[in-house]
Amino acid sequence: MGIPFKDGFICVCKIAENDIRWSQLNELINPNNEGTHIVYAEFTAKELGAANYLEIASKWHHGYPEPSDGNEYRELTYNLDEYCPKCGSGKRQKAPFRFKKSPVWGQKNILQLNWIFDEYFVKPEIWKEVFEPFGIGCQPVVLDKSGRELDTVVQLDLTEQVELVDLGEAPFNTCDSCGRLKYLPLTGCFMPAPNFTNAAMFRSNQYFGSGASAWRMVIVSQELYAKAQSANLKGVSYVPCLSRIREG
Ligand SMILES: [Zn+2]
Repeated sequence: MGIPFKDGFICVCKIAENDIRWSQLNELINPNNEGTHIVYAEFTAKELGAANYLEIASKWHHGYPEPSDGNEYRELTYNLDEYCPKCGSGKRQKAPFRFKKSPVWGQKNILQLNWIFDEYFVKPEIWKEVFEPFGIGCQPVVLDKSGRELDTVVQLDLTEQVELVDLGEAPFNTCDSCGRLKYLPLTGCFMPAPNFTNAAMFRSNQYFGSGASAWRMVIVSQELYAKAQSANLKGVSYVPCLSRIREG
């Protein structure tokens, strides 16, 4: 079909949805479940620069919350009074995250742990340069074995929660155990607009995820995004949110 692809144990090719060969390719890979596709969107610098708010998404999941065997970290790190094991919602952090060792940062300076999709960890100097000026605090991270505080990483302290508006037809599930709603992850589109807020970085009120995983979308303001870009924040990507017309 003349579509370039990356060969290997898994063959990967990138194709636009409006490419005339896409429907043919889709038929070819899907009938016997021999292939799968992931929809994502690429945004132009202009679109990213024009958005009042942007979803921040990790490109780097490094390490696990410890102790990761048997999910013991959950009891140690979270207050589980309102936690629902069926859908994963309702956890509230009560103690610092525990790392196995200091992050091996390489060229990067912001990370997410595996399994924890609404917390960010950064180099302390990056917190000071990028996040602190916007009123975002930080929390210590400790070594699992000794409980000693690490001086190579801090957790961003995201305290604000904001409602996303105009979620429209976005598909969601209602948990039959706790009754909470959880939206399926949104991909390949602009993200919904958050309600008005003065916070520069915050989480969505709504939960996202599937199965027993539930997380809140993390959103940054245009000002914080611009600061992060100029400070060379590495390890994340951004998806612009739709704009809301200011009322009144
Ligand atoms: Zn539930």
